[in-house]
Amino acid sequence: MTDPRQHLPGVDRVLASAAFAALLAEHPRQRIVHHLRSALDHAREDLARGTGRASPHIGDLAREVEKALVLDGIPSLRPVINATGVVLHTNLGRAPIAPAARSAMARAAQGYGNLEFDLERGSRGSRYVHCVQLLRELTGAEAALVVNNAAGALVLGINTLAVGREVAVSRGELVEIGGGFRIPEILVRGGVRLREVGSTNRTRIADYETALDTGQIAALLKVHRSNFRIEGFAEEADVAELAALADRRGVHFFHDLGTGLMMDPAALGLPGETRVADSLANGAHVVGFSGDKLLGGPQAGILVGRREPVARMRQNPLCRSLRVDKVTLAGLEATLRLYRDPGRALEEIPALRMIASPPEELLGRATRLAAALEARGVEARVSPGTSLVGGGTCPGVALDTFVVKPHPGTRSVSAVARRLRRGDPPVLAPVEDDHLNLDLRTVEPEEESLLEERVVRACLPNTN
Ligand SMILES: *Cc1c(COP(=O)(O)O)cnc(C)c1O
Repeated sequence: MTDPRQHLPGVDRVLASAAFAALLAEHPRQRIVHHLRSALDHAREDLARGTGRASPHIGDLAREVEKALVLDGIPSLRPVINATGVVLHTNLGRAPIAPAARSAMARAAQGYGNLEFDLERGSRGSRYVHCVQLLRELTGAEAALVVNNAAGALVLGINTLAVGREVAVSRGELVEIGGGFRIPEILVRGGVRLREVGSTNRTRIADYETALDTGQIAALLKVHRSNFRIEGFAEEADVAELAALADRRGVHFFHDLGTGLMMDPAALGLPGETRVADSLANGAHVVGFSGDKLLGGPQAGILVGRREPVARMRQNPLCRSLRVDKVTLAGLEATLRLYRDPGRALEEIPALRMIASPPEELLGRATRLAAALEARGVEARVSPGTSLVGGGTCPGVALDTFVVKPHPGTRSVSAVARRLRRGDPPVLAPVEDDHLNLDLRTVEPEEESLLEERVVRACLPNTN
């Protein structure tokens, strides 16, 4: 008996067929050959195992290769609809960018720009001049420096202020920010030694004073507990006390604020969040924060504060490894510009608008979506729920919302969630109480009809 594998057609013969001529007209030959080889390998394995039927037809091979070519075309990084209600969802790219900032980023990406060129003098300039004036204006700082992200800003900051020496941090602030970024480890990598001060729940200014008596400490570091809270028998030294102490004893004081709130927290319904300007007004020498948390811009790390330490951070060779890119700078500048008019910032910066969305408005949107789903045969009800600010910010703050709970029809809830996630565009929504909970707080109004379509297709039988 002859080996059936001998009947598999050769690559050249298949490529010369009419079925493949159409593919060759549309796609690079190399990609077709690559996928055809895998298709033939699969057929060969099937035949060897005896599971395959006869040798595949050329038409079957063409269909298989075409499917693989379509998958080739789907980008790895793509837009998703965020129906989780978590506004600064780190896994989903944190802050969506404001329209004005998006245009600025597209313009910066499109061609050349004066990134490091002084147009007045006609000579080489610095990328670190951009955004500085706006940041000074908005925070009251003497100086500002923009780098790649806030974790990098912290490393750059403490390395500049205290390399080879000690940095004093409260035991209540030796936190993990997320993604394995732990303050104690990061300090070591930043080339400084950690001096733990106080206890987990109580650290007083006197504890820092005692630590300073060792004479080894070059800087005090306060880390904003962005992602958890200590309640009960707790005490900490505040920014004003630490600033006064640092000034009296001639050491630096770095405040790692993380969140980067630039506007009145009351306008966002986030009482108790510290603005960057407040930290500086209370005396912090340098404040570090993110561009893509409560600031609502692109990923960036921002350092603002006194002229001399910020200048040294700019000159630190590490700064080069954390350098910010032109597209980011353009987006950050346009976002910061919106803050010149706080009303406009609240309207146009998506993260701020989402956080400030009133529950009655969310109820209206949820009710409309539920009615639209019902009209298309998908049962849906609206219930009260909670949204989160997210991004490791504002722990314990639950924003009141209303969620749409579509009935999964004949499918299981997890099957519907999977269909939503794997469709185009992918839709992400949490399953709670054995129902999908669609929170429109994080869905742009112009995405609503697409969301409706996706939910209908995921829930109704006989759809794909
Ligand atoms: C989020 C955060 C960081 C890290 O910011 P990235 O922009 O994610 O690098 C550092 N410190 C604090 C206190 C934070 O909240």
